[in-house]
Amino acid sequence: MAQHLIIMGRQGSGKGTQASHIVEKYGVVHVSTGDMLRAAVADETELGLAAKAIMDSGGLVSDDIINGIVAERFDADDIVAGGSLLDGFPRTPDQAKALLDMLGSRGESIAAVLNLDVPIEEVTSRMMARGREDDTEEAIANRLGLYEDQTAPLLELFGEKGLLVVIDGMGTEDDVFGRLCEVIDARMEPQP
Ligand code: ADP
Repeated sequence: MAQHLIIMGRQGSGKGTQASHIVEKYGVVHVSTGDMLRAAVADETELGLAAKAIMDSGGLVSDDIINGIVAERFDADDIVAGGSLLDGFPRTPDQAKALLDMLGSRGESIAAVLNLDVPIEEVTSRMMARGREDDTEEAIANRLGLYEDQTAPLLELFGEKGLLVVIDGMGTEDDVFGRLCEVIDARMEPQP
């Protein structure tokens, strides 16, 4: 039975890099709602056209749309067989509920919710250092504030279910990956 992992972390936490290492080592399918939306925008699909303005303004695409694209993605054989690493989803309580309902009806489970913890001061200086045009101190603070508002209730929910594991995201890439592997090895049942 497919098992699923969820990775969470602030922008600048190294979540993207670690997600690709996890996918490579554990053979789970990377499901990034941000990547799916960007692909839809590039292809100028109906979804992409609707999502573009929202994404450009830094807002959130509606729960109905997001829940729909994830449910559709989950019907594919690769996820049925290999499970997934969810990245960027769920982002709201409604999305979390939709995910739990969907997995419940499939008889599948979440092995762990990995929260990559890097302090706000550190992600701020990492983002300032990369010097992107939209990385002013104020814009960074706004995005981080939004993340905090959205994710706090999710962390609480997954914490209550005993699924949440906080991973120290400070140190080298290898150090952090080592910590993630320890947790995944302990929580995920070996696949045949
Ligand atoms: P970042 O890590 O930069 O916050 P993502 O790549 O995960 O962003 O997503 C980019 C944009 O796509 C978000 O700012 C948002 O507009 C939209 N998006 C992605 N995932 C979701 C989601 N689960 N719910 C609502 N909107 C989403």
